[in-house]
Amino acid sequence: MSHLAQHDSELFHILGKEIHREESTLELIASENFTSQSVMEMAGGVMTNKYAEGYPGKRYYGGCDFVDEAENLARDRLSELFGAEYTNVQPHSGSQANMAALMTFIKPGDTVLGLDLAHGGHLTHGSPVNFSGQLYNFISYHVSRETGRVDFNEVDRLAKEHQPKLIICGGSAYPRFIEFEMFKEIADKSNAFLMADIAHPSGLVAAGLHPSPMPYCDVVTSTTHKTLRGPRGGIIMMGKDFENPWGKIAAKSGRVKMVSELIDSTVMPGIQGGPLMHIIAAKAVAFGEALKPEFKTYAKNVINNAKSMADEFLKLGYHLVSDGTDTHVMLIDLSTKNITGKSAEINLGKAGITVNKNMVPFDERSPFVTSGIRVGTPAITTRGMGDSEIRKIVRWMNQIILDPDNESLQSTIKSDVNALCSNFPIYSH
Ligand SMILES: *Cc1c(COP(=O)(O)O)cnc(C)c1O
Repeated sequence: MSHLAQHDSELFHILGKEIHREESTLELIASENFTSQSVMEMAGGVMTNKYAEGYPGKRYYGGCDFVDEAENLARDRLSELFGAEYTNVQPHSGSQANMAALMTFIKPGDTVLGLDLAHGGHLTHGSPVNFSGQLYNFISYHVSRETGRVDFNEVDRLAKEHQPKLIICGGSAYPRFIEFEMFKEIADKSNAFLMADIAHPSGLVAAGLHPSPMPYCDVVTSTTHKTLRGPRGGIIMMGKDFENPWGKIAAKSGRVKMVSELIDSTVMPGIQGGPLMHIIAAKAVAFGEALKPEFKTYAKNVINNAKSMADEFLKLGYHLVSDGTDTHVMLIDLSTKNITGKSAEINLGKAGITVNKNMVPFDERSPFVTSGIRVGTPAITTRGMGDSEIRKIVRWMNQIILDPDNESLQSTIKSDVNALCSNFPIYSH
C-alpha cells in the first residue's frame, strides 16, 4: 500500500481522481503530454531534498557530487539533442527561461518585437499583464489575415521603424514551422539579437522534423514538458557561445566574459535560488529518451496524427488558421460555427474531450470567450492512438460542436471516449 494512502488519505484520494481523469479522458491540449514512468520516478525522487545553488563543480553547498553528475548528464544530453554548444537546464519553467534570456540580452525599457498573444504568441512575449510587457517596450507583430502565417512585411517594417534590440520568434498557438531564417535576415538588418522560443515544437526540433533554430538564433529557450515529453521545466541554449558584446564589463579582470557566463548568472543568482535537482535529473532522463530512435518515431506520429486531424476538420468544413498544420498543433476558428471557444471547451469537456479555448487572429471576442480552440496531438500520440482513433475523435467533436446543448449526446460520447481510452492505458499501474 502506498505511503500516501496510509498517511494522507485526503491527498491520496485527490491523486487517484487525477489519475483517473488522465486515464479516462482525451487530452487534446497542445501543450500537455504524459511523461514516461522513468521520468516520473526521477521527478518524484530523493533529489528533491538537495540544495545545490550554483553550477556543477561550483556549488555553494556540500554533498553535491551526485546531483552534479545528474546535471552534467542533463546538459551533455541536451547539447547532443539540439547541437547546442551551451545549455542551462536550471530554469524552473519556460517563463523563467524567457525571463533569464531577456534579462541577459536587453535592459529594462529596451524595444523588443514579439508575436501578438492573440496571433499565437505567449504571455512572456510582451503581454501587458506579464513582466515582459511591464519591463520592456514590446512591439507586437502579427500573422497575415489571408495566410495565417507571420506577416514578414510587417516584421520588416516594424524593425525599421522601431530598431529593436531583440526579436523573439515562436509562440504557443502557431501551427506552422517557425521561420527562423526569415527572422534572422530582419534581425541582422536592424542589428538586433534573435531569440527563439521553441517551447511548443522543441520535441519535433529534437527529432529533426522541424527546422532547427541553432544556426540562426543567438539564444533559444524552451519548456521540457510539451512535445519534448519531459518533466515540467525550462531550458536555455545557444548554438554557439560568443563574447559579451556589450563592452568590456570584465575588463578589470583582464578577461572578456562569454555570454554563457552571463546567462548562467542571470538564472542563478539573478532570478532563481536553489535548482530543482529532482526535476533536472528527470530532464536528463527525458533527454536520454529523446535521443533514442523511438522518439523520432513518436514525433513523426505526432505530426502525422495532427495532419490527419486537420484533414478531417477541413473535410467537415472547419476553418483552420493557416489552413492546416506543419506541427503538433492546430488552431480551429469557430467563428462560422455558431459557437464560442469557451462553449466548445466546456461542452467538449462534458464528453471527456479536453481542449482549450484560444483567441484566433483578428478575434472579435474577449480572451475569456474567444472564437477558437487550440487542439494538439502530443498526448494522445503518447498513448499510442493513430489514424482511426483520430477520425473517431474528430467526428465526436464535430457532433458536439454542432449540437452543444445536447446533454444526452455528450454522455453517449463520454462513454465512447471512456471505452476508447481504456484500450490505450497511459500508466500500467
Ligand atoms: C508554454 C510556453 C512558455 C512557458 O512555459 P511555462 O513553463 O508555462 O512557464 C513560454 N513560451 C511559449 C511559447 C510557450 O508555449
